Amino acid sequence: MQRSFLDRLFESGLLIETGVDGLYGRGGRFEDVIAAFERLIDRFGGADGAEAIRFPPGMNRAYFEKSGYMRSFPQLAGTVHSFCGNELDHVSLLKCMDADEDWTAEQKATDIVLTPAACYPLYPTVAKRGNLPAGGGLYDLQSYCFRHEPSNDPARQQLFRMREYVRMGTQADVTEFRQTWMDRGVEMMKEVGLPVEIDVANDPFFGRAGKMLANNQRDQNLKFELLIPITSTTSPTACMSFNYHQDAFGTKWGLNLEDGSVAHTACVGFGLERIALALFHHHGLDTEQWPVSVRRALWG
Ligand code: ATP
Ligand code: ZN
Ligand code: MG
Repeated sequence: MQRSFLDRLFESGLLIETGVDGLYGRGGRFEDVIAAFERLIDRFGGADGAEAIRFPPGMNRAYFEKSGYMRSFPQLAGTVHSFCGNELDHVSLLKCMDADEDWTAEQKATDIVLTPAACYPLYPTVAKRGNLPAGGGLYDLQSYCFRHEPSNDPARQQLFRMREYVRMGTQADVTEFRQTWMDRGVEMMKEVGLPVEIDVANDPFFGRAGKMLANNQRDQNLKFELLIPITSTTSPTACMSFNYHQDAFGTKWGLNLEDGSVAHTACVGFGLERIALALFHHHGLDTEQWPVSVRRALWG
């Protein structure tokens, strides 16, 4: 039987098994590729003057609740719960664990939920500052993100990194920003020798009502993806996404332009693990053997 791509990633030490599908350690050579690709992103986007902000992989639960994530994607969310009891409760907790019973039911929700996409903590943060400056805003983010979608496809992980640029401004500002990054995305992948395709897409909105939201998103061309074949040639993997939120986040969070009108927003996300996996899939597991042009684009 042919070994799967995931098996070969484990054997080479690029990814490290944890016993949970979609939860992996990363070897040093895997991280070198991600670091190099992030420098390539900096090279393409660095002159735009984005404000760099790094949030930890957890966000304020109140902001998460207000974001509407549970309305659209309840199946993907991850909340952080903790033991909040007294000594007596602790005794029953240990008894429960010793008996191999479910000890998690008594855990209480904390003020933190796992970040579902790198840009989620940004909108309330920027809104608190007051009106945007003239010309709007541009932000550079990177965060580990959690999505409860266990899979044995190495390109679908539960904890993975998303690098994002977010633009806030007029409709013209943010749609131009999105187009610029679609062009740059194609150009960047060409530099590192990866075949790409850009296609309209939709988010996995939950349930029957979600079908309508997904259709609407597609019909209005609100989401595009840059696709690269990794584990399948017939359904290539989304390695970047380009999202136009219209004024939905501006209205929800009270993001206003300098003149007080509601801001439009757009975000562009790089799936860093997916891009690294695409590189290993197309050029081999040994980076020393990658084509010279690819090595030059990544390591100079
Ligand atoms: P998919 O359709 O494959 O589930 P998505 O539409 O949910 O992807 P986005 O929500 O747009 O993806 O997230 C931005 C980027 O993060 C994606 O383009 C992708 O590169 C990456 N990404 C999303 N989900 C995962 C995951 N489970 N594992 C690794 N990377 C991911
Ligand atoms: Zn985003
Ligand atoms: Mg998804």
